[in-house]
Amino acid sequence: MHELSIAESVLEIVTEEARKHGLERINRIKLQVGELAAVVPDSLMFCFELLRRDTIASEAVLEIETVGIVARCDQCDFSFEVRGQVFRCPRCSKPVMELLSGRELSVSSIDGETGEDDGTDQRSCCS
Ligand SMILES: [Zn+2]
Repeated sequence: MHELSIAESVLEIVTEEARKHGLERINRIKLQVGELAAVVPDSLMFCFELLRRDTIASEAVLEIETVGIVARCDQCDFSFEVRGQVFRCPRCSKPVMELLSGRELSVSSIDGETGEDDGTDQRSCCS
């Protein structure tokens, strides 16, 4: 399953980040997912909840932020948001090949706690 391998790599990334930043517990993970990444958020949540057990992120909340598709026309240099999968420039109506966003699949931020001070020390980091 597509989402299962994504959930696995998200956990790998946050575990690695947590190690780098000395976090002992992860509270929140923000994920940016482009519309073209073909991820079903509910399915990804489900897989994540299965895999997070017995990891540093066992209590972590996964927030999925959907990123719209933005394309740039190389004919007239116009940038626009693609809606309804219509990859055509609204200004000159040429087909558009270059995408500025929409394929994202990345961890944008991680909130966690270092074990010191009874976990009151909150830290954020970005990958
Ligand atoms: Zn154009």
